[in-house]
Amino acid sequence: DKLNTAIHEFVHLIDKMDGTIDGIPHALLEQSYVIPWINLMHEEMERINKDKSDIRHYGGSSQIEFFAVAAEYFFSRPKLMKRKHPDIYQMLSKCFTPDEE
Ligand SMILES: [Zn+2]
Repeated sequence: DKLNTAIHEFVHLIDKMDGTIDGIPHALLEQSYVIPWINLMHEEMERINKDKSDIRHYGGSSQIEFFAVAAEYFFSRPKLMKRKHPDIYQMLSKCFTPDEE
């Protein structure tokens, strides 16, 4: 239920807008948030790979896939994500719904 192929592929395109596909949407994310976002990704990827996260397992394979898989979750189950992953939710909000921040 957190899987959405259209969102997933769309987010890869967004990721690519800055010329590098790396899970870091420089076009959407202020520079000061880049390091915190990388740290958040790595912490949660570690949890995914230890089966301690409810984020889809594929997200643990790389930063690129983490960003796409987390965005699927963000758009399909926003309230659940806000509750279970408040930091990731907040960061993705900055990217995708900047007016609400
Ligand atoms: Zn992908």
